Amino acid sequence: MSLLQVTDLHKAYGDFMAVRGVDFSLEQGEMLALIGPNGAGKSTTFNMIGGQTRANQGRVCLNGQSILGLQARDIWQLGVGRTFQIAATFASLTVVENVQMTLLSFHRKMFSFFRPAALQYRAQALTLLAQVGMADQADRPCSELAYGDVKRVELAMALANDPVLLLMDEPTAGMAPQERNELMALTRKLARQRNMGVLFTEHSMDVVFAYADRIIVLAAGWLIAEGSPDEIRNHPQVREVYLGS
Ligand code: ADP
Ligand code: MG
Repeated sequence: MSLLQVTDLHKAYGDFMAVRGVDFSLEQGEMLALIGPNGAGKSTTFNMIGGQTRANQGRVCLNGQSILGLQARDIWQLGVGRTFQIAATFASLTVVENVQMTLLSFHRKMFSFFRPAALQYRAQALTLLAQVGMADQADRPCSELAYGDVKRVELAMALANDPVLLLMDEPTAGMAPQERNELMALTRKLARQRNMGVLFTEHSMDVVFAYADRIIVLAAGWLIAEGSPDEIRNHPQVREVYLGS
């Protein structure tokens, strides 16, 4: 049984079909890239899996359990983590406070943030920050961080629910090439260490080919190809629709 099994997934916005019958699976510890031109339906697919958008048709199973139609909050509680294209930290809080907030939210103790109860999550937050190489900056306000470091904090926050599956929609948007590589190398290390599946989108083909174990390709809502980086690099239809050659 796969960690994630997506079957015949469809989404229409009015008369417009954004996703037209997508099938794929993802295994534990695997880095799976979802690529395709702008408007291909990548974010819509992420949002249907994460519960932010309702599908019109299809199945999404996590470890064999159907999660389609559940609230985003419940899907998060089941171990599906996610990061967003725009970094979602609170700039006025410190690094460790941001991670504590997420832990409190996960444990449904948001209202105890300014009480000593929050302290019990400080140690756990520091452990997560250590995993992304940010423990030494724990007490700095997020507003002082370089963008690449904010993305690391965001990754630590995405680990707060101890995810079995991490959804990353354009995690490296706005980052310099060096920072992109560092973030993806870190993500892959975490995927392997935690046996966590990662589904990610990424514009840079260099990054995709370097960090994906497997790639699936969407175009105009259709899944047009699936394979290893080498297979996708040499796939005629992908070259035509996506790589432009
Ligand atoms: P991608 O992430 O691959 O760029 P999206 O999933 O964001 O693509 O969008 C797929 C298509 O669906 C696009 O044509 C987009 O304009 C359309 N779309 C996305 N969200 C909405 C929405 N809320 N209402 C109407 N159309 C939408
Ligand atoms: Mg998108």
